[in-house]
Amino acid sequence: MTNMIALITGANKGIGFATARQLGALGMTVLVGARDAERGRAAERELRDGGADAVFLPLDITDAESVTAAAKRVEAEYGRLDVLVNNAGILLADGARGLPSETTVATLRRLYETNVFGVVTVTNALLPLLRRAPAARIVNVSSEVGSIAVMTDPNGALFELTSVPYPSSKAALNMLTAMYAKELRDTPITVNAANPGYCATDLNGNSGFRTAEQGAEVSVHLATLPADGPSGLLWGFQMDAGG
Ligand code: NDP
Repeated sequence: MTNMIALITGANKGIGFATARQLGALGMTVLVGARDAERGRAAERELRDGGADAVFLPLDITDAESVTAAAKRVEAEYGRLDVLVNNAGILLADGARGLPSETTVATLRRLYETNVFGVVTVTNALLPLLRRAPAARIVNVSSEVGSIAVMTDPNGALFELTSVPYPSSKAALNMLTAMYAKELRDTPITVNAANPGYCATDLNGNSGFRTAEQGAEVSVHLATLPADGPSGLLWGFQMDAGG
């Protein structure tokens, strides 16, 4: 597993930081994508202190110029990318519980800029470098609340959850994952969505019942799949509530 290059977006805290730590422990060079330089450098320092080969990479996934600059830097310094973990995501406290009839397009747009459009911008910018790796892995950090089957099951634990903004953004992400996997099915690249489970992070006011480290294990599993591993799946923890 040595000498592999992994980029994790939103790696300065939460599940992304834990993912960087775990991939770093496997011997990968971890590029710590973060939109804030101070937070990114602090995470880089902490990961390096823990023994990981970690490098802060300035990256705001909603800013096309930032994404282009990050891709250019990865190309110049490494020439390829083995693992891309599209982890950065937001919940938007003000839109978190919005009924469809009360949800504004502005709220959806803000949420989709990060959770959906940002993933497309980053993935498309880095795909040429992922194609240069022997068998690249793309992991989109999603959620069970993005599953239409789960959310509409009258006997399921999430049936009473009627909020539309965040779940619909993750539903879009799940479909993107499936379509990228289909497009890339004749290549060695796998594309999967990770469901980390309901983890205690800043995203949900630390209310989750799992740890960020446990959530990260799902991303790491998908980032280290063998050659015959699956592609196009939503994979991971089955949760009872939240996320
Ligand atoms: P956190 O809020 O702890 O971390 C989110 C990370 O994303 C931060 O590093 C944040 O950076 C970064 N980020 C947000 N917007 C951008 C942006 N525009 N550009 C770059 N980075 C950005 O949340 P989690 O660790 O919980 O979430 C990680 C992923 O897991 C998300 O996609 C989330 O939807 C998903 N998830 C989380 C669950 C949970 O229970 N926690 C359950 C299911 C899925 P900054 O510090 O600068 O804000």
